[in-house]
Amino acid sequence: MTTETVTWVDLRPQEDAADVHAAIRRVIDRGWFVLGPEVDGFEAEFSRATGAERTIAVASGTDALTLTLRALGIGAGDEVITTALSAAFTAQAIMMAGARPVFADIDPDRLTVDPAAVDALVGPRTAAVMPVHLYGQPADTPALAAVADRHGLALIEDCCQAHLATCEGVPVGTTGIAAAYSFYPTKNLGAFGDGGAVCTRDAALDARLRRLRNGGQDGRYRHTEPAAHSRLDEIQAAVLRARLPYLSDWTARRRALAARYRDGLDGTPVLVPPAFDPGHVYHLFPIRTTARDRLQDHLRAHGIDTLVHYPTPLPAHPAFADAEPDHCPVATAVCGELLSMPLYPTLSEAAVSRVIGAVASSDVGA
Ligand SMILES: *Cc1c(COP(=O)(O)O)cnc(C)c1O
Repeated sequence: MTTETVTWVDLRPQEDAADVHAAIRRVIDRGWFVLGPEVDGFEAEFSRATGAERTIAVASGTDALTLTLRALGIGAGDEVITTALSAAFTAQAIMMAGARPVFADIDPDRLTVDPAAVDALVGPRTAAVMPVHLYGQPADTPALAAVADRHGLALIEDCCQAHLATCEGVPVGTTGIAAAYSFYPTKNLGAFGDGGAVCTRDAALDARLRRLRNGGQDGRYRHTEPAAHSRLDEIQAAVLRARLPYLSDWTARRRALAARYRDGLDGTPVLVPPAFDPGHVYHLFPIRTTARDRLQDHLRAHGIDTLVHYPTPLPAHPAFADAEPDHCPVATAVCGELLSMPLYPTLSEAAVSRVIGAVASSDVGA
């Protein structure tokens, strides 16, 4: 048995290395670094890849969510219903727009936001619903769209973990008025720094986002509204353009490794969350066990790195102390049980087998 560590992630380019180096050199040799041909090209190519009509590149996934809310006129005095289980940046984005997050509990099997819980929380101040396609698993988008439609709310999809995912055959991010993507290096499509994008079909939203990301400029040196400063630079856009053609192969690879985990972990004491849709893109592969910390120690002793996504339900963060409800029991219980296994396109099948063997040799119960 090899004693090499199974690392949590490996962000060095591999089969794409020559392409990204050439892309970076192209930008340097051109001598144009912000809002230029690489961003234009990436926006068009990302729209094609995701089924969106329009893509507006911004500086991060968080900014993509915040600026979408601002562009829709959602802010102070408004509430946005989101999930109790996500990266905290989902809720921070709502706060940065000046609105208040409201946390709906999750479906205990799917781990994405429960549409019935969302429906029950709609009140007079609710302006939008912001589901997260968590871990790459699509949220129940048709049911969420029905809730949003019934109450006249904007549906904004957090696709930061779900590049190329589909829900019942429909690309995520194309049901709501807008979708936010992150290109943080560990995401399924990663830049070599921060980056993000909004995808939308709405021409007015598109135009306003282009102003908001660039100081409120409507033409050069004409600032028509208070705005933000949130742009994807040319080097990151060029890197993303170089890597985008690989994304569907990388996604297939994630699915194949996830299938291997599913087979191999069947019959071990841990619970593997069921997959609800073949459109899942496996940004992460969390398993569940009530002996989570013990399993994490056991795997570490076997040279296997794991992380917890996420240890704390959003309502329990001090940052959101004023939000309601302050307790979501399903998310709280699940957060104590989750442990993400290593999963990335360059991970070897031998490494996955080693992880499975190490989980099987642990003494934890589900
Ligand atoms: C990564 C992430 C974000 C934030 O994206 P950044 O690019 O890091 O700002 C928001 N929501 C979810 C679900 C994420 O995974």
